[in-house]
Amino acid sequence: MICPYCNGEMRKGILYFDGRSGAHWNEGDAKQSFSKTIGGSGRVMAAKSYKALSITMTIDSLYCDSCKKMIIDTEISR
Ligand SMILES: [Zn+2]
Repeated sequence: MICPYCNGEMRKGILYFDGRSGAHWNEGDAKQSFSKTIGGSGRVMAAKSYKALSITMTIDSLYCDSCKKMIIDTEISR
């Protein structure tokens, strides 16, 4: 997908959260190894805070390296 902000190519990946290490992003459809994650690779700096709870989730997303934007498709249930 082309980034709607800068027209650069976006990379498809997953945004994921882990109660032990916070929010991270990895290209493709799988998390990176836990050792890379705890080493700080792929850390999502926009994540302001998290608590060390046993919560894990993943969200498909697109990321633009140029303007640091991330796009996710979602629907908010009513
Ligand atoms: Zn962009």
